[in-house]
Amino acid sequence: MSKYAIAIHGGAGTILKSTMTPEKELAYKKSLQDAINAGETVLKKDGRALDAVEMAIRSLENDPLFNAGCGAVFTNDGKNEMDASLMNGKDLAAGAVAGVMHIKNPISLARGVMDKSDHVLLTGAGAIEFAKKINAEFADDAYFFVQMRYDQLEAAKKENKIVMDHNDDKEKKFGTVGAVALDVHGDIAAGTSTGGMTNKKFGRVGDSPIIGAGTYANNKTCAISCTGHGEFFMKAVVAYDISCLMEYKGLSLKEACNIVVMDKLVKIGGEGGLIALDAKGNIELPFNSDGMYRASKKSGEEMFIGIYR
Ligand code: ASP
Repeated sequence: MSKYAIAIHGGAGTILKSTMTPEKELAYKKSLQDAINAGETVLKKDGRALDAVEMAIRSLENDPLFNAGCGAVFTNDGKNEMDASLMNGKDLAAGAVAGVMHIKNPISLARGVMDKSDHVLLTGAGAIEFAKKINAEFADDAYFFVQMRYDQLEAAKKENKIVMDHNDDKEKKFGTVGAVALDVHGDIAAGTSTGGMTNKKFGRVGDSPIIGAGTYANNKTCAISCTGHGEFFMKAVVAYDISCLMEYKGLSLKEACNIVVMDKLVKIGGEGGLIALDAKGNIELPFNSDGMYRASKKSGEEMFIGIYR
């Protein structure tokens, strides 16, 4: 059994080696490595899985390469509305925010909801009011402006499409970020953070801030963070479904992940993937798309970093 373990993702989708430059690939790998290191620093010092998840996700949110935090995609009216959630497997404590703007680290605001409110999910203006009350860190529009994301919005508007974080049909990426971790105390946790879909309207919210859909953690079963076409992940209640298959059917983490990602989701057209671990330190990183930015590390083992299938 591993003393501790951590896995992260930076989104799934049509990530093809043919459209990747060596420089870009190196930059992604470095970012994934930094995020694992941020989480592992906590775990190494016998810290909590929940803190490791928050730290790893903050690292990815602070990186413009990913569709979360400063790299969040644009809504139809040129705003950055972000969603995030996290859950503690020990006591099922959970916190989430949806449709928040100008929050530097949405995952830490979700943590604030978990720790400092009686609620699980806060949205929009109310979530911002709460963020001010707990002194969350705010950032201005310039911090969230990434030219590549703005170009994606312009292209999506031209085609009148609501799209996942992608440049064109050949390169479709879901740049959401997430982390799952097991600490030396035997507790597991999961978290997810995203800007959602480019050109989204009407306060659209995906699976990422929905406990049970995009994020779930229970010491008895598993910790899960999803990335992909959120509408399908919500309909399939993906994260909780994997937990249920383990709890009620006695399936292993691997078996449960395979059924949900490679069969159930595929049958309804749900493209994407997820990261999963259990309290024994088993890790699964399944995806039904061409690729998924992913990395994992178990205590005493080498780090794994993957991008393509
Ligand atoms: N699942 C996210 C959403 O639908 C998108 C992603 O994973 O990139 O909002």
